[in-house]
Amino acid sequence: MNSALSILQTVFGYSSFRAQQEEVITDVINGKDCFVLMPTGGGKSLCYQIPSIALSGTAIIVSPLISLMQDQVTALKANGIKAAFYNSSLDDAQAHHVLMNLHTGELDLLYVSPERLLTDHFIKQLSQIKIALFAIDEAHCVSQWGHDFRPEYTQIGTLRSSLPQIPFIALTATADPATQQDILHQLQLQNPKVHQTSFDRPNIRYSVKEKRQAKKQLLEFLEAQENSASGVIYANSRKKVEEITEFLKTEGFSVAAYHAGLPSEIRHKVHHQFIRDEVQIVVATIAFGMGIDKPNVRFVVHYDLPKNIEGYYQETGRAGRDGLNSEALLLYGTQDIVTNRFFIEQIQNQEQQRIESFKLHAMVSFAEAQTCRRSVLLNYFGEHTQQSCGNCDICLNPPKWFDGTEAAQKILSCVYRMDQNFGIKQTVDVLRGANNEKIRQHNHQTLTTYGIGKEYSAIEWQSLIKQLIHLGYLFQDIQNHSVLKLTSAAKAVFKGEVSLQLALPKSELSTRGKNRASKGTRSELLDSEQELFEALRHLRKEIADSEDIPAYQVFGDATLVDMVKKHPTTDGELLKVSGVGETKLARYGFEFLTLLRDH
Ligand code: ADP
Ligand code: ZN
Repeated sequence: MNSALSILQTVFGYSSFRAQQEEVITDVINGKDCFVLMPTGGGKSLCYQIPSIALSGTAIIVSPLISLMQDQVTALKANGIKAAFYNSSLDDAQAHHVLMNLHTGELDLLYVSPERLLTDHFIKQLSQIKIALFAIDEAHCVSQWGHDFRPEYTQIGTLRSSLPQIPFIALTATADPATQQDILHQLQLQNPKVHQTSFDRPNIRYSVKEKRQAKKQLLEFLEAQENSASGVIYANSRKKVEEITEFLKTEGFSVAAYHAGLPSEIRHKVHHQFIRDEVQIVVATIAFGMGIDKPNVRFVVHYDLPKNIEGYYQETGRAGRDGLNSEALLLYGTQDIVTNRFFIEQIQNQEQQRIESFKLHAMVSFAEAQTCRRSVLLNYFGEHTQQSCGNCDICLNPPKWFDGTEAAQKILSCVYRMDQNFGIKQTVDVLRGANNEKIRQHNHQTLTTYGIGKEYSAIEWQSLIKQLIHLGYLFQDIQNHSVLKLTSAAKAVFKGEVSLQLALPKSELSTRGKNRASKGTRSELLDSEQELFEALRHLRKEIADSEDIPAYQVFGDATLVDMVKKHPTTDGELLKVSGVGETKLARYGFEFLTLLRDH
């Protein structure tokens, strides 16, 4: 039996294990059940793939999505591993062929959809072959608590007792403890060893911007990305998805729309084009989900506020699976809260409604936080940290605090003078002394607070008002046209009994240059190295097209970056590049080395 480490190095071309991989692999090889909790991109697949190769017999991998299975199998084959999938995409002859290979012990791994797994026919097959292990990928699909519940998955638990001698391994990137507990319960694992790594995704830079002119903000963000960067833009409605797609098309971007209202052929096509780097940007509703196993997604934008942090974290987590720098941008507008509340109010079940409101509240708090975004996220998932990450908008551009007592008094008295009957915009207009129809209609130019706030721009006043809402001095009555009301705490500020530290509002422009100082994408490379990288990328795409596979299955971006850094010129040196194993060396080594030698 080959050792796990030597399989890692010679087959997969990686030099060392990542956190927990070796422990899981050892446990599975020793026949123990395991529950693996790692974030997206953490390296879960190797946890069952290496034991599948090391152990005799075939490993059965349950996987929820056909596209994911195909992708995994192609990637394994590219590394010279005997793998196949068994699902509804196969015709009878193909399915028969796969089962033949299973029967004769030809396969190290067989990926199976839950529907096919649970047929009597297939279960009978299982009893006649040697099974190395049983892996349940995306195991959260078994839980109703999770966000991707699949009824077919619930039957899988029954298999555990019928195959007592075989190690079961369940894997998920779900960070939510309630779902994790439920998975264990549903799958009936036997004394499972729980292997958990941090859910942090250090290569993702989280930023939140107040939504002002969303399209313009989006454009600015996209223009700051690398030309070839792949990304996903999430919006909350189909209509908006179409609208943004059209807008970006006219702006000359390579972009396609994806939502559940589109015919499945179109959805399939968009997915395919995205994976193959033929479409760079997909604008989508959250229907564009689990199948995005593309390692080089460089950015994820939320054009609207997500319903909860779980969803947000999962969606942003689709960026940067390959470990390279990536960006997550959230455009946050208060109108989105109103929309989300409206949907929550439609929920019939009271308990469900309460949970959803709590989750929305947490999402809003995240968006409005003045502390490290990453620590807010990790704390939400129970991973307690007070450390600043250095890679989010707040850490990179921390708020400057100032004594905001006087500004707060101006706002609060303005709200009071307007009989607590107007929203943020009117308050700002009165403070700034605007002369418009609504001001005249309500005779607001006669208020003593009219025009007392010319020192700040409208945007800055908005920011200050929001901070007061957050700090509990103002209350925004969502049930009543979002009018501002004073809370009981406001009195002390009026009277000057407390002094308030507020964050100095940032004007959009001042933050821009700074955030861009290190471009999220490919900052791993020096300018002088970009040319070689592009040449390697070009070669990769040519090879991929000729083999009709996605470019990243030839080599991932991380491998190309390492190639640029190490600049190998011999087979031996190329093998030292991360992600180059023996099969890929034999397959692609000559072409890449020729390019590298010429360069
Ligand atoms: P997950 O399933 O947890 O989302 P994957 O298994 O797809 O993550 O792994 C993410 C990426 O990291 C893949 O490109 C994989 O090849 C790479 N990877 C996994 N383990 C290692 C390792 N030990 N060294 C280098 N790269 C690794
Ligand atoms: Zn931070």
